[in-house]
Amino acid sequence: MHDGTVYLVGAGPGDPELLTVKARKLLDEADAVLHDRLADERIVDSCSETAEVVSVGKRPGPNGERTTQEEINRMMVCKAREGKDVVRLKGGDPTVFGRGGEEAEHLAAAGIDFEVVPGITSAVAAPGVAGIPVTHREHASSVTVVTGHEDPTKPESALDWDALAANVRAGGTLVVLMGVGRLPDYVAALRAGGVAEETPVAMVENATRESEFTVTGTLETIVERRDDVGIEPPAVTVVGDVVAVRDRVAEFLQGAPSVDFSPAPETVASDKGVE
Ligand code: SAH
Repeated sequence: MHDGTVYLVGAGPGDPELLTVKARKLLDEADAVLHDRLADERIVDSCSETAEVVSVGKRPGPNGERTTQEEINRMMVCKAREGKDVVRLKGGDPTVFGRGGEEAEHLAAAGIDFEVVPGITSAVAAPGVAGIPVTHREHASSVTVVTGHEDPTKPESALDWDALAANVRAGGTLVVLMGVGRLPDYVAALRAGGVAEETPVAMVENATRESEFTVTGTLETIVERRDDVGIEPPAVTVVGDVVAVRDRVAEFLQGAPSVDFSPAPETVASDKGVE
């Protein structure tokens, strides 16, 4: 029997219509689907009825289940060796903070054929659907995507926040994933790096899902805004002048509600209990 193939597939930010045609086809034909917590449940529920569907989210799921990366690696290889075609389904794009690279290395080391099927990353999609272009001819000629999971005050941090601050000061856009909890820490790091307090900042929660929600403010106000509104993961933080573009297009932008505190606090309209 031939080994199966493993497909490292991006599920996009949430909306099932934002799956690629190729991802849809693979989900319809897969023998097994191993999916992360962030892969939207509407997509997971739409897998082939004959596929074995396994949740391998690394944080405890609804029933307290937890799967280590080693177990995920083992499962992918085992199922492929049983001759199964496996979809390893991840939120967004599999290679953007998704361990797609590590899994590819593991599969290659085990001699298993694999393919990477890109998905729409939340790093670009979440700002985009909220009316925030990550680049703009007049506002930003670069975009940097970082993890907000690390403590910026730790000397061993893999991120150089002074360099990131310099990039924002030079007009670059900064997008932070996994950055709800540590928002105060990296806001402080950017301020310490000389980024102006009035620099616009947005947080977009659950982009392209029914509960999508955006809050905007400035580097000075965003921590308070996050707390007022109760922003929770998954959310993307965007720092830079491009956030102001949203103010100019919001009136015609279709989608979920938001709380805009810049420029005028009166524009509040929220289903999150903020009046
Ligand atoms: N591979 C994923 C990112 C995984 S890291 C991608 O390309 O999108 C997980 C982080 O992604 C979350 O903490 C959050 O910052 C972001 N994220 C994923 N889906 C999101 C969504 N629908 N809305 C807002 N942020 C999202």
